[in-house]
Amino acid sequence: MRYLLISDVHGNREALEAVLDDARNNYDRILCCGDLVGYGPEPNQIVEWARAHVQSIIRGNHDRVCCGLDDLDWFNPIAQDSTRWTTAHLTPANLKWLRELPAGPLTVDGFVLAHGSPLDEDEYVTSVSDAANLFEYLESNLTFFGHTHLQGGFSWIGGKQRIIRRPFPGDSLMPLHLDPDGAYLVNPGSVGQPRDGDPRAAYAIFDSQERDVLFHRVAYDAEAVCRKVEAAGLPPSLGARLLFGR
Ligand code: ZN
Repeated sequence: MRYLLISDVHGNREALEAVLDDARNNYDRILCCGDLVGYGPEPNQIVEWARAHVQSIIRGNHDRVCCGLDDLDWFNPIAQDSTRWTTAHLTPANLKWLRELPAGPLTVDGFVLAHGSPLDEDEYVTSVSDAANLFEYLESNLTFFGHTHLQGGFSWIGGKQRIIRRPFPGDSLMPLHLDPDGAYLVNPGSVGQPRDGDPRAAYAIFDSQERDVLFHRVAYDAEAVCRKVEAAGLPPSLGARLLFGR
């Protein structure tokens, strides 16, 4: 089985369409680690696509706050503005669907989907020490997670921990073969708001038979999204950051 893994789409339709185009014919199922909405100008379009096409999905923190399950006090002012805008623009049916999304961790075909970490959906796993604290508690040797918007992740093989690298800016691919004795925390990266300095949309393909993960990056029309952000009345910095992947 080949899985298309996506995360943190954040209402960015151009980025999602570029990913689906790039991954075409290379996967059997689509899985999502959360945050379909928030920040971006087309939340309804992303939710409706997910309702029709994603086989397994968990909620992200923005999904949770935008649909009213949590308050937005702990968001920064720009995230608060975008949350209010998103809540006001989502249709009642899409709000209801978001409210019913499961919280991670979710086990799918022997591996795990989480938004932040398998222990806490809001935890940011960004460093080797963050990951080191998790490996002894993992119930599966393969977890896909999101939330940080940083593609790559961490491995634990033979008592050694390593950082899993993403594609260099000039490359569009980075393969990772999974050691059967290793444990992995894998972040497919953010489709709609990368923060690792590479503005291209990120995703991963996991081939469960070959035990391979392929990290991908694909360019999309971020300037078109900037124009939509401004036309929608969302904070303009939410468009500008897409041009730099920050
Ligand atoms: Zn996110």
